[in-house]
Amino acid sequence: MSAGAMATAGTALPLLRERGQREVFCGLTGIVWLHRKIQDAFFLVVGSRTCAHLLQSAAGVMLFAEPRFATAIIEERDLAGMADANEELDRVVDRLLERRPDIRMLFLVGSCPSEVIKLDLSRAAQRLSVKHSGVRVLNYSGSGIETTFTQGEDACLAALVPELPATTSAAPELMIVGSLPDIVEDQFLRLFADMGIATVRSLPARNAASMPPVGPNTLFLLAQPFLGDTARALEDRGAKRLDALFPFGAEGTVDWLHAAAKAFGIDEMHFRSLVAAPRERAKRALERHRMLLEGKTIFFLPDSQLEVPLARFLANELGMVPIEVGTPYLHRQHLARELEALPEGVQLSEGQDVDRQLDRVRSSRPDLTVCGLGLANPLEAQGLSTKWSIELVFSPVHGFDQAGDLAELFARPLRRRDMLKV
Ligand code: SF4
Repeated sequence: MSAGAMATAGTALPLLRERGQREVFCGLTGIVWLHRKIQDAFFLVVGSRTCAHLLQSAAGVMLFAEPRFATAIIEERDLAGMADANEELDRVVDRLLERRPDIRMLFLVGSCPSEVIKLDLSRAAQRLSVKHSGVRVLNYSGSGIETTFTQGEDACLAALVPELPATTSAAPELMIVGSLPDIVEDQFLRLFADMGIATVRSLPARNAASMPPVGPNTLFLLAQPFLGDTARALEDRGAKRLDALFPFGAEGTVDWLHAAAKAFGIDEMHFRSLVAAPRERAKRALERHRMLLEGKTIFFLPDSQLEVPLARFLANELGMVPIEVGTPYLHRQHLARELEALPEGVQLSEGQDVDRQLDRVRSSRPDLTVCGLGLANPLEAQGLSTKWSIELVFSPVHGFDQAGDLAELFARPLRRRDMLKV
């Protein structure tokens, strides 16, 4: 267990590094939003009963659709039982694909029980891909040992990248990287089309057959700050990342769109006139929440990796005062612009030593603490208002039209607190 302070690159803000006990969900959680996004994919978790419970409680029961995730439970085996485990996995996959011919992409998702770690899922994926030729079988790890909950999406998309076809022309193409709700993605696609950018694709696409091609002519915008491995895999295929703020709030969205406009040589006047109206709309939507949020202090415990961009948005567009911004992992390059835009005096922290951090929360008594589900109840019991960070990933929060909803997510617990006080 160690803690140290240093200055972050690109900013004078001090960084506190902690490597102690953590309180976070595991990467299996990403399946909850990924299975909605890739509509002909199936996620087969190779795990334990705990994994099955987590998925069921996080994703709820789907009443009207055939489920698109399941858990193959592999438990209590020694190494000698591994051959059987592979055969059993093959049998489960055979049965699944026979019963569900609509599945075009199958992810074998690893987890952390030791029995599963001993299974070589990448070999299993290769073996099953050959056997079921119409289905792409891929694998990634959602294990809680190596991931925080949003890294499940990173691992999934990074597994997809080597499978993407190569681009066939030299003309620049734009790729939006990160799983966005369809409605938000459509808003961005309309804006890029109105700008005049001819080819815009999304990773992930909505179905297996439409996954975007990639090559040296691909310029990509990250829609989420937790996609470090995916970005590296795209860069390995020659693609280039466009540096921008993340599209949270009016200003973050303008900056994100502007990065693409500049890279594609879009006329500055045309860009400004295009974003003027939606930007104004977003600002008006934010104004409604400013009165409540301005001057309120906020403490981010490390959970979703959205902490730094959200703190920037709340400080600069709503006047909130971040006390500490904790993140499970600080990607200095992808967050460089965000870090520069954070106000002075913020304590940045990376990693977690949960007891020490909770001591800091209690001594600073912020108006709002953003944290994982497990920590919210104990803090509420001590009279501190909390916001579950997982809600920020499950809700549509990107772009101009969602800026007001994003602010509302932070305003609601404060309003509730005020009502309880009356
Ligand atoms: S992957 Fe690990 S942390 Fe996640 S539910 Fe399964 S056992 Fe728990």
